[in-house]
Amino acid sequence: MPDNSNHSPNVILPPTGGEVGLTELELAVQDSVRRFAREVLRPVGQELDKMTPEEVIGENSPYWSMLGQFAELGLAPSALFEMTQKERSRLIPIIYEELGYGDSGLAISLGAGSLASLMAHRYGNQTLIELTEGKLGCWAITEPDHGSDILDYNRQNQYPGGYYGQPNCTVTFNGDDLIINGQKSAWVSNGVIADVAILYAACDNGDGINTRKGAVIIVPMDQPGVSRGKPLDKVGQRALNQGEVYFDNVRLSKAHLLAGPNDYEKATYDILAEANAVMGSVFTGQARAAYELAVQYSNERKAGGTLLKNHQYTKLRLFEMFRQIEASRALNLRAYRYNYNASEPAIQLSIASKVTATQTALDVCSEALQVFGGNGLTREYPLEKMWRDARASLIEDGCNEVLGMKAGSYLTQLEA
Ligand SMILES: Cc1cc2nc3c(=O)[nH]c(=O)nc-3n(C[C@H](O)[C@H](O)[C@H](O)COP(=O)(O)OP(=O)(O)OC[C@H]3O[C@@H](n4cnc5c(N)ncnc54)[C@H](O)[C@@H]3O)c2cc1C
Repeated sequence: MPDNSNHSPNVILPPTGGEVGLTELELAVQDSVRRFAREVLRPVGQELDKMTPEEVIGENSPYWSMLGQFAELGLAPSALFEMTQKERSRLIPIIYEELGYGDSGLAISLGAGSLASLMAHRYGNQTLIELTEGKLGCWAITEPDHGSDILDYNRQNQYPGGYYGQPNCTVTFNGDDLIINGQKSAWVSNGVIADVAILYAACDNGDGINTRKGAVIIVPMDQPGVSRGKPLDKVGQRALNQGEVYFDNVRLSKAHLLAGPNDYEKATYDILAEANAVMGSVFTGQARAAYELAVQYSNERKAGGTLLKNHQYTKLRLFEMFRQIEASRALNLRAYRYNYNASEPAIQLSIASKVTATQTALDVCSEALQVFGGNGLTREYPLEKMWRDARASLIEDGCNEVLGMKAGSYLTQLEA
């Protein structure tokens, strides 16, 4: 009998790395979302990627059955808001990492889809909770002439003496009514298919248009005067529908107002802090998916007379991917833990997580593609799509460099 007493342990980590102490509920949700990610999101995302933007949202598109299957998981904001803040802070990143592991573009469609409802819950507005319940949402903030600018709610990034110019979309307060005119850009995720929009727009509260004192409005997308552009054709996240939303004298009662002019900056801060944290989870998951495929391939492909995995450089390459993903996840969980448990979220933590996760996803997808060699470049294998999907994330929900400057502005304040 060989003496094994001096053998070192061979620890095989779970898919989400050095994670311990998940509750039974967390393990159950992680398991069911992971199965949904593998069996539904990944294959549907790959199919949609090869379709035209029109086909992606066509009547026979698998997108719609995916949406129905996701609803069956019972993870809508109404269910999440039955939990404590602490429970939500732990469960949401688990859910979005698994969704991103399946398909990042579809994960963003589901995330953007629930944002209107989530914010209505967050602000405790019962009317708007009911209006958004079970509806596919979109977040309409970017305008044709205002991308980075409109996310700069408090003008921290404005060039001295620079001027952000006229808004492309405005809300006018008229007695008990809100009147919306103008357009949002082609980048609105779910813009062509959403049932409701959470609209962020400059407003005229009786004393002229003020871009810093805007309004946040929940807009039912079947309202007279609302129309949409054509679905956007783009290089990554092709499964994610995007398109313009137009408003022509759209009249709504003030009951649709989620945040008024005095709360506009804070509301932009809040949604950006939320969306950037979601991005942190989704792209940690996307990186993990590429890493897993690279490990798998290195166990199958031979080069230099042996399996790829036996080459020292492959081991180092895979370790570097693993290290970055672990760091990205740890930061994301930390951002959620702080932001959901403190009296105010710290946007700099959400931004740190978004920037780290998206750059990690791009780097890891690129390295994983390299592990696949020439195969990685072909559409027969999943890596080229993942790499394209990850590339889009460096611009999505704010360009990383612009977000970084914003976070830096908070970090350099010595006093609150
Ligand atoms: C996949 C995807 C999904 C998206 N989803 C949504 C959505 O759901 N809803 C929505 O409303 N929008 C959405 N967007 C839009 C996104 O928020 C914008 O694209 C982003 O904020 C950047 O705006 P822009 O594209 O107009 O670039 P610009 O603002 O024109 O920036 C162009 C370049 O200039 C740089 N730059 C800008 N300002 C400064 C500055 N002050 N100093 C130095 N450099 C600067 C930027 O970093 C960038 O490199 C999405 C975008 C993508 C790619």
